[in-house]
Formats: sequence, structure tokens, C-alpha cells
Amino acid sequence: MTPMLPRSATSAEAGTGRLFTACLDAVCAELQRRESELCALDRAIGDGDHGANLARAAHALLDAKQELSALPLASALERAGVLVVMTVGGASGPLYGSFLMALGRSWPLQPTPHAISGALEEAVAAVGRRGRSTEGEKTMLDVLVPAARAFRESTSVGFNSLSSAMASMLAAADDGFEAARPLRATKGRAAYVGERSIGHLDPGAASARLCLHVVARVVSDQCQRQELAP
Ligand code: ADP
Ligand code: MG
Repeated sequence: MTPMLPRSATSAEAGTGRLFTACLDAVCAELQRRESELCALDRAIGDGDHGANLARAAHALLDAKQELSALPLASALERAGVLVVMTVGGASGPLYGSFLMALGRSWPLQPTPHAISGALEEAVAAVGRRGRSTEGEKTMLDVLVPAARAFRESTSVGFNSLSSAMASMLAAADDGFEAARPLRATKGRAAYVGERSIGHLDPGAASARLCLHVVARVVSDQCQRQELAP
């Protein structure tokens, strides 16, 4: 039988349950912890505010935790996206907001890994539409596109394990993050520095990679705990 996420992630009556709250807590804590590192990356090829932008988003999401966790997962994701758009002025606010809103809108009723991969690809496509951007332009899409692709490819093969799909997704995210370093930025503020962006890591690619790692860690911890539960 195809494994699904823990039931608490899908139960509309009980709100989003523990998995969403655990992901929210962990992602927000990580973004706050990495604020200065992300700002430093953005100082090299942008205006130095990426970490502060995402720390502000994290603060707003944590403030709204009670409201969010009372909603069904799909609505909580959409609402989180709206809050991110409303709180973050920089390019990354509308982009991450679009990601979360599209993820919520396309979240499957039966969240098998394969069904989740469809929602993930929709969310990544929404970022591309919002930013009029695509893979290879030295942005967060250089992490998100290959990560979603690897997740889908891994869930399309016969053995449909969530943990192997997440492992493939993270490996692709890591590769995409490094592969963007030698690229010249053609979108966002980094495009203004042109040739000088070559050789630098992209701050949005860095934050996207961090978020994927944190979510995958929390999901795999919760799945293991559920398997061990009597
Ligand atoms: P701003 O550039 O407005 O200061 P941030 O510093 O918060 O916003 O975010 C910068 C990051 O946003 C970049 O590193 C890049 O990954 C991402 N980004 C910027 N423009 C685009 C775009 N058009 N498409 C995809 N990602 C983009
Ligand atoms: Mg910036």
C-alpha cells in the first residue's frame, strides 16, 4: 500500500495537526537562526535584506500559529502564503507567498507521495509565473525546480517511499544550490550586478534549500514516531 503522511496532517476536523505546526516551528526557527547568513549572501549580489525579510515572515507566521493550526492543511498553507505576501516587501515575499498559496490550492485530498509531488510542482510553477523566471537564472528556482522534479521522479517509480523521495529531493536541492554559483543572475536585483554575480551563492536558493531540508527532517521524524507508536 502507498504510504501517506501521518493522519494528523490531513484531518480537516482537527485542523492541520501536529505535522504542520512542527514544520512551521522548525522552518521559522531556522529562518530566524540563519538571518545574518542569508543577509550576508544577499549583500554580495543584492541589497542585503533577504535574511531580514524572511525573519519578518517567520515572525508573522509564528504570531498567526494558533489561527493557522486551526485550519485544514490546504487552507493553512494558503493563508500562510497570504501572510508572507503581506509581511515581506522584497521579491522573496510574493515569490514564497505564491509558492505556499499554490501548494495549498493544489494540496491533494489523499496525500500520497505521488499526489504531493503534483502539488509541489504546481507550487514551483507558481513561483516561475510570479517571477517570470525559470531554472538557470540564479534564483530560488535553481533549487526548487530540480527538487520538485527529483521528488516526482522518485515517486513515479514502483517503490513509492516517502523517505526515499525526500532524500532524492534534498540531493537535487543541494546540487541545484551549488550549480547556481557559477551562473550569472538574470532575474531580481542580482541581475543588476551582472557579471559580478558569477561565483556567488544565491540567497533565495540558499533559503529554499534550508526550508526543504527542515521540512523533510520534521516529516521524517514524525513518520518514524508514528511507525513506532503502539
Ligand atoms: P529583494 O531582491 O527584493 O531584496 P530578497 O532579497 O528577499 O528580495 O530576495 C532575493 C531572492 O529572491 C534572490 O536571491 C532570488 O533567489 C529570488 N528572486 C528574485 N527575483 C526572482 C525572480 N524573478 N524569480 C525567482 N526568484 C527570484
Ligand atoms: Mg534583497
